[in-house]
Amino acid sequence: MEVNVSLLKQVCEIAGAPGFEKRIRSLIVELVTPLADEVKMDNMGNVIAIKKSKKNPDAKKVMVAAHMDEIGFIVTHIDDSGFVRFHTLGGFDPKTLTAQRVIIHGKKDLVGVMGSKPIHVMSAEEKTKLPKTTDFFIDLGMSKEEVEKYISIGDPITRDRELIEMGDCVNCKSIDNRVAVYILIETLRTIKDPAYDLYAVFTVQEEVGLRGANVAAHGINPDFGIALDTTIAFDVPGAQAHEKVTELGKGTAIKIMDAMTICDYRMVDFMKKTADQYQIKWQPEILTAGGTDTAGVQRMGKQGAIAGAISIPTRHLHQVIEMAHKLDISNSVLLLNACLEDMDQYDWKH
Ligand SMILES: [Zn+2]
Repeated sequence: MEVNVSLLKQVCEIAGAPGFEKRIRSLIVELVTPLADEVKMDNMGNVIAIKKSKKNPDAKKVMVAAHMDEIGFIVTHIDDSGFVRFHTLGGFDPKTLTAQRVIIHGKKDLVGVMGSKPIHVMSAEEKTKLPKTTDFFIDLGMSKEEVEKYISIGDPITRDRELIEMGDCVNCKSIDNRVAVYILIETLRTIKDPAYDLYAVFTVQEEVGLRGANVAAHGINPDFGIALDTTIAFDVPGAQAHEKVTELGKGTAIKIMDAMTICDYRMVDFMKKTADQYQIKWQPEILTAGGTDTAGVQRMGKQGAIAGAISIPTRHLHQVIEMAHKLDISNSVLLLNACLEDMDQYDWKH
């Protein structure tokens, strides 16, 4: 299965800071409306695309969650020289902000650069310290008067980086989690008949604490749940074998646990058996720091859900140059499809 790079590029490059998902949401609604029986939006802004099971009328419900938001910032202050201060929306590693281009989404989009103190004027002590997000300011190259024509306190800010292909990999901002948005759209496009009623949910505000998924799961009350998200691939120089979490190009990752969820042992077993049955390349994933929508999907319905997650190995996570492997992306589509179609074949009572 080929990765549709132009669709992935479109989905990755569009803006959608937590709480400000309007643009990515409009694109998703446009893309999934022809693929689903019904598309709804809840009050919080989660998009829910429903595809009913034909073979099992009155079927159980399976919720698949892919968060549509991306880590970003929000404008907190414009100083007398026109420099913008900001607060983070989601977890940033401050050292990765140096000299990056960002886009402030005000009355119109303005490109700015993340400024900080040049090394030439740093004291010896400053040179040894790691930067903090509060050390940075955004330089728009404009006076305060000019900036204030377009930008207000509370405007969202996202990273500015295009998607490119590098070997068999794709590299862009927001691979976390637009690659999963892409996988869920592709699954809606390619699935023949889901075993249970499929609730494909594109959630909001994951990066600030799984807020959209919690509400969506509460509303849907699913019997089964699968989250789709990126995970760490620390398969790089200096990493020890036990630190890698996952590796690029070794297949889709079946989550066993992350910091907020122990995946249901039945779901993990079902995913592994399904992957093996269809010769889908997979690797196990245990992420000891960081949570995903899996937690909301598992615990916010009335009885809880039998839940797990499919993860996409990603290098340079939460930086502007996040990278995933096409083979892992296509294997993720294949595994999600197979799981959704065969879910009624598994003995969930054991
Ligand atoms: Zn994510």
